[in-house]
Amino acid sequence: MKKLVVLGGGESGVGTAILGKQKGFDVFLSDKGKIADKYKKVLLQQEIKFEEEQHSEEIILKADVVMKSPGIPDKVALVTKLKKQGVKVISEIEFASEYTKATILGITGSNGKTTTTMLLGHVLKQAGINVGIGGNIGDSFAEQIANSSHENYVLELSSFQLDGIENFKPHVAIITNITPDHLDRYEYKFENYIASKFRITENQTEEDFLIYDGDDEVINDWINNTKIKAQLLPFSLERELERGAFLRGENIIMKIKTEEILMNVSGLKLQGKHNVKNAMATSMAAKLMQVRKQTIAESLSDFEGVEHRLENVQKVNGIQFINDSKATNVNAAYYALECMDVPTVWIVGGVDKGNDYNDLLPLVREKVKAIVCLGLDNQKIIETFGNVVESLIETAGAEEAVKVAYKLASKGDTVLLSPACASFDLFDSYEDRGRKFKEAVRGL
Ligand code: ADP
Repeated sequence: MKKLVVLGGGESGVGTAILGKQKGFDVFLSDKGKIADKYKKVLLQQEIKFEEEQHSEEIILKADVVMKSPGIPDKVALVTKLKKQGVKVISEIEFASEYTKATILGITGSNGKTTTTMLLGHVLKQAGINVGIGGNIGDSFAEQIANSSHENYVLELSSFQLDGIENFKPHVAIITNITPDHLDRYEYKFENYIASKFRITENQTEEDFLIYDGDDEVINDWINNTKIKAQLLPFSLERELERGAFLRGENIIMKIKTEEILMNVSGLKLQGKHNVKNAMATSMAAKLMQVRKQTIAESLSDFEGVEHRLENVQKVNGIQFINDSKATNVNAAYYALECMDVPTVWIVGGVDKGNDYNDLLPLVREKVKAIVCLGLDNQKIIETFGNVVESLIETAGAEEAVKVAYKLASKGDTVLLSPACASFDLFDSYEDRGRKFKEAVRGL
């Protein structure tokens, strides 16, 4: 019996363990931390051997194959040791894709993965296509392969998932954009991170498709200097393209085989230029799946959006509150600020991953009347914007931040939580930050 060791007892680890067991592996799951009760229950039910708060090397090093969860860095001693011994260390996506013949649509990028994944999943479902949605969100891909029988999958793929692939190949790949993020996992080299994102297309053939942001210089440079086999389908807000998706006036045009007008931008439910891009990527992928133009347009116009991404919370005394807690980097906050069309009180701050806020200066000058800092260390924000806005106030909790922002705002203004930072100094996660923000707004 082949031995499968699973490192990490979260969603992807437990999913892999279930699938491995079903496929006849002798499975052992090991987590250096505590395993959440809900996952422990599943492991016990399925009679899968596991340990927590330790890694028993004598068992792990005997593995035939190891699935490493995306949260565990490549540099940790155990992983290095395994690799030195020649043990195959792969990601959940790699492991699971061996066991399915389904058509896979994979989505990666620095920002917009979840939105695009959910949007594309929605469009395909509306078209009556049998589709599973997974990857970084919801039920793991591996668990779905074990327990469902979808003919198609839309998968959100982080660079960490892609780092652990060998043969994985999506039929349609989307790269939403590439801006510096998670560089701590890539030896602080941007090119390593870019290479990791481009692994999504590494095993693609001439019959497959790569959809990408044709306005993104980083992506264009990489494509011009690398041999890519997949058929290229860029999207652009800036120019018309020979093949791909682009704007003509306010209309979204798609040109894959023939040119067709998809819809007017104003028909999109999701706001902002970044969401026009997400819609373009989605439309092309849906078209490749033979979805009718009409169905694509209709589904794009009724998609409500995803929680914590430019989510309209509610209006209090004429002041609109928006929760964009998932904006954990400068680029995401940029697009949020760009969408603001009334004076804005901006709640920003948290754990900064080496942010350079200068790109935001013109938008802040134009749109932001006051800044509320929500983080432990706000030095950089104060230095960059202290002289640019009328007032800047530091706070250390969601409730306080919301109250202060409410005071600073006037009727007709917007209060935007778009922190440009991770949340771990004051919150458990970006979801926790977003939820507390919403609770505080509802309590005003
Ligand atoms: P990811 O899954 O890649 O983190 P999300 O869809 O969760 O992306 O969105 C993260 C943040 O980025 C949100 O603040 C969202 O409004 C913003 N965003 C969404 N799509 C894009 C895009 N195409 N470009 C830049 N920012 C985006």
